[in-house]
Amino acid sequence: MTTAEGAPVHHSPHARLRSVAAHDVTWTKGFWADKFALCKDVTIPSMRRALDDPQNSAALSNLYIAAKLQDGAYRGLFASDGECFKWMEAVAHAYSMTRDPELDRMLDELIEVVAKAQAPDGYLSTSVQMTGKVRWTYSVYEELYNMGHLITAACVHHRATGKKNLLNVAIKAADLLYGIFSPRPPELVHLGFTPSHMMALVDLYRVTGDGRYLELADIFVTNRGQAPLLSEWPVERAGPDGTDEVQDRVPLRQEMEAVGHAVAATFLYCGAADVYAETGEKALLAALERLWQDVTRLKLYVTGGVGAHHGSVSRRGDKINETFGLNYQLPNATAYNETCANIGFAMWNWRMLGISGEARYADVLEQVLYNSGLSGISVDGERFLYTNLLRWYGAEHELLGHNDRQTRWTTHTCYCCPPNVARTLAGLHNWLYSLSDEGVWVHLYAGSRLDTRLADGSAVALIQETGYPWDGVIKITLNQAPAEEMALMLHIPDWADVWGIAVNGKAVEVGARPGSYAVLKRRWSPGDTVELSLAMPVRLVEAHPKVEEARNQVAIQRGPLVYCLEGIDLPHGVSLADVHIGRDIRLAPRHDRALLGGVTVLEGDAWYAPAGDWRGSLYRTLGTEAARRVPIRLIPYYAWNNRGPTPMSVWLPLC
Ligand SMILES: [Zn+2]
Repeated sequence: MTTAEGAPVHHSPHARLRSVAAHDVTWTKGFWADKFALCKDVTIPSMRRALDDPQNSAALSNLYIAAKLQDGAYRGLFASDGECFKWMEAVAHAYSMTRDPELDRMLDELIEVVAKAQAPDGYLSTSVQMTGKVRWTYSVYEELYNMGHLITAACVHHRATGKKNLLNVAIKAADLLYGIFSPRPPELVHLGFTPSHMMALVDLYRVTGDGRYLELADIFVTNRGQAPLLSEWPVERAGPDGTDEVQDRVPLRQEMEAVGHAVAATFLYCGAADVYAETGEKALLAALERLWQDVTRLKLYVTGGVGAHHGSVSRRGDKINETFGLNYQLPNATAYNETCANIGFAMWNWRMLGISGEARYADVLEQVLYNSGLSGISVDGERFLYTNLLRWYGAEHELLGHNDRQTRWTTHTCYCCPPNVARTLAGLHNWLYSLSDEGVWVHLYAGSRLDTRLADGSAVALIQETGYPWDGVIKITLNQAPAEEMALMLHIPDWADVWGIAVNGKAVEVGARPGSYAVLKRRWSPGDTVELSLAMPVRLVEAHPKVEEARNQVAIQRGPLVYCLEGIDLPHGVSLADVHIGRDIRLAPRHDRALLGGVTVLEGDAWYAPAGDWRGSLYRTLGTEAARRVPIRLIPYYAWNNRGPTPMSVWLPLC
């Protein structure tokens, strides 16, 4: 099988599912089609302006200066190049979908600059090249992060266009890395803070077939934890090398818990999953399974957010930042949940889904995408959040770490999250469907068209129509099908207790539980229709009792969406902190096209018990305030903080 440009589609030997070629999926109409259009028409050009803005920590100018096309000095963080390459990856995805010649032209122009910025030996990391720093001496220089994103952008660009102009730059960089790192020099064992390079090298192996890149990716995964620092080191020491901060204290294959910087962790797990898909090394998969269980059972927010803390200390005594917490440690008002970590978690689940075909990964993928992934970008597509907390007290509540402002922003002193959101939205069509020997898998529900070929070369074409996530009816029409029997695997999300399937209008019995795939195997004819109906009642969700900060509270969900209450939606004078939810609350969905880009809100009556004046004290004798009913309107969590500083909470106290 080949892409439209003739490049072969790689089949990972130890993955159950195969990706469809990028050009085989087209957006039609609906939620994600709208998000894609917004990304292409608004986010991508707006991000280009941000990358040219002197206030921003990531700057395209560094590449122009390194290429000797402009004068000037380096500016921004060490990871600037990587953020620029993430944006270029987003543009390449958008081109893949639209074939907009302007995107192609813009990329070609930039690729010329990138090629000129590259050192003759293949090195490319302008923060080191332009500042006199010595290569490969400090993991925080993010040289491997920058070159990793260069390689990933090049693979996406090659698949989108068939061109090799960026791919050749990436190959030159990867060959340099192979020469330096494949002999496994002990002094370089710690390098690479945020490991984008592992998955990048596996992707380059998939594109080129050159086994050295897979070998090198495996070496980088294996390097982590090979030279841990001694536990007697004071926690105040500088640098993350050899510590839990960057998953560098315990080798991945022996690790029992997700620990440390959550972006670094999820990127490492993505890289390891990619290596497993090619090598089939059981110890890697076993470690990934242990870590996935650890995150999803003990460290995951209801929104799909990961990385609870801004700063902390690991069980093994290491200083850790932007990090996973201890078990059940899931604070709301101080939740960190960096947008990049949530997206990294989705990327990891996508890989585990491909390896196994198990719906639990598609469940988490959906949980992140509709909630803590999408909350990182404003509904107008131009402004971003670094952290994705679950409770906000409003204007007086300082957002942690890299959210030094109270509202969403366009430029930032650490610009990693925006291009991560952009490349995810621009490339999301790659996550809708997969293929296997059985047939076609539908993981996510979104208005789209699939036009592809199975492994035996037979053509399959289908159209998916749905108002998801606002309503749970999904209609799939087969326009082309193989002569032989083929299975259609439909994801039944874990929240869908009540659902039904009809084929050509007739209900069919399919023995599938929520959190699995319904398998429809038959000989299909053009024009056959499948209708999946997922009931979407409003659900009150509680957390495990050990999650202290959610005790006696509920989160409200409908379909895949987690909802929140914002103060702006309460009657004047009613404080969000004093609103309680009755167990018997009735919340009615109503779609409001004019609100927040078009959302379904949930409306009903809650209880309001004004706490009165606390007189500056922290504690008092329990009062007997009378409660009265108050109308509330909940919005999807992803759309919070789009109407100015107003308090917000996902978890609401029960009364
Ligand atoms: Zn980030």
